[in-house]
Amino acid sequence: MIDTHCHLEQSDYNKDRDIVIERCKHQLQAIIISCSNLKHFNTTMQLVRQHRGFVFAATSVHPQYVKEYDEKDLIKYFEMIRSNKDNIVAIGETGLDYNWIKETEWQEKQKQLFIKFIALANQLLLPLVIHSRDAVETVVDILEKYKTKSVQMHMFTKRSLLKRVIDNGWFISVNTLLLRSKNVKKIVRDCPLEQLMLETDSPWLGIDKDGKIKPKYKVRNEPIAVRLVAEKIAQIKKINIENVDRQTTENAINFFDLKFKV
Ligand SMILES: [Zn+2]
Repeated sequence: MIDTHCHLEQSDYNKDRDIVIERCKHQLQAIIISCSNLKHFNTTMQLVRQHRGFVFAATSVHPQYVKEYDEKDLIKYFEMIRSNKDNIVAIGETGLDYNWIKETEWQEKQKQLFIKFIALANQLLLPLVIHSRDAVETVVDILEKYKTKSVQMHMFTKRSLLKRVIDNGWFISVNTLLLRSKNVKKIVRDCPLEQLMLETDSPWLGIDKDGKIKPKYKVRNEPIAVRLVAEKIAQIKKINIENVDRQTTENAINFFDLKFKV
């Protein structure tokens, strides 16, 4: 199994990051860290070098942080991404977030930022990892307008747009939200296994003993929780968990072009 979207670069793991990664190595084939901020870039690259062939990285500016970046920061960040291209498997998470950013002018800035990252992904021939909270339709419009082919929709929850996502040949990565959301269950039911991947969004979306999702300061999530997601997908699709594991792993390896041999 592969956790295709986690945030081990976050300070929540400062005390025991190596132990967490060791635990992952016993149960998973790879993890992909989604570095969503310039300030975490060096930590992320260091983890990729330290655990080459197991830890991979996607990198971008999470749309929620749009207000923290001016043109100068972006030029610097793009430079860093370009010169570390060999250690990066995707651009993301990028996209729009109208839940955190309500002002129209900043939403407009998010769009410009998003388009810049789409262009960067095209230039570097890397796939895109997409965040689209409360703005899925606009995000899908933009991705279609720019004819983006390699797209992973992270935390996709808009059933009415599922057909467009499937027809475009894009992927959906599913996390523990599946355990509590009827809506996500229906998305998983209706999406071919060939277009699904596993993720956790750790440290967020941790599950407590009663099966409820808790804030990260109460239950810190870990990438090994992809097993819970795979079990649920197997149950919904009435297939063996081995099939879910094999297909979602293959999807991730092909999509991100993961190289395991050092
Ligand atoms: Zn994320």
